[in-house]
Amino acid sequence: MYAAIELGGTKVLCRAVAGDGALVGERRFATTTPEGAIDEVCGAIESWCAGDPLRAVGVASFGPIGVDPAAPGFGRFLETPKPGWSRFDLRGALAARLAAPVAVDTDVNAAALAELELGAARGLDSAAYVTVGTGIGGGAIANGRPLHGLVHSELGHVRVPHDRQRDPFPGSCPFHGDCLEGLASGEALRQRWGAPGEELDRPEVWELEADYLALGLANVVLTLSPERLIVGGGVAGTPGLLALVRERLPQVLAGYLDAPQLHEGIDDYLVPPALGPRAGVLGAIELARGAA
Ligand code: ZN
Repeated sequence: MYAAIELGGTKVLCRAVAGDGALVGERRFATTTPEGAIDEVCGAIESWCAGDPLRAVGVASFGPIGVDPAAPGFGRFLETPKPGWSRFDLRGALAARLAAPVAVDTDVNAAALAELELGAARGLDSAAYVTVGTGIGGGAIANGRPLHGLVHSELGHVRVPHDRQRDPFPGSCPFHGDCLEGLASGEALRQRWGAPGEELDRPEVWELEADYLALGLANVVLTLSPERLIVGGGVAGTPGLLALVRERLPQVLAGYLDAPQLHEGIDDYLVPPALGPRAGVLGAIELARGAA
């Protein structure tokens, strides 16, 4: 049996599958304290694997978190704005309780991996996955593997041009103010316009949003050159928004990259996740299989 945990800032999804992929169990909890979350998740996994040995656990987590298996901080949170979670050794706590190998990556790297193996980027070697929800995150696959490095990608915090005459809002990111997340996340929408995105139907809201997303995604295309750009999350799912971003991305790139995917093929290049909100937990299963 393999277990997968998708740990988000507000909820935890855990899932177990048999070696042949058959679903054994799935459960969702609210994210509480580190100790509370470990207890609930491990209790569920232990109840599912009674009599069937647990081969490995894959974790798709919010970040920032150590993702280098060779480093002492593997699976340990760095400083995070989420109260109580900074420096928590997530991998160590799970491995101690479940006595199985534990692989850890970011939720967005895991989602990118699942989309590459099973979803919107099947058959390709590279892809980027950007989620636009309460915050903005992004991960990438290069040569078939999640891209790590110094820590891991934090595509939500790239800087984008900010015209303060058009948009005087200073930005909502507690670290950078007007980075991409600070200007275009669900939290930024709420702070700038005084209402959550789902209650905003004025065209200027979504034209500004599409402009910021196109600027941020142009940075992703220019630095990582992914063969597919997958954009998910609650804000990105706003009807009509991705169509606006598809119009603007080629304009931002201004004809510089002569790839048909960025012009007549843009509808097949910039796509929503094929696996929907399950991409993260399905990627965590892939991580577990890789760790067994
Ligand atoms: Zn930021």
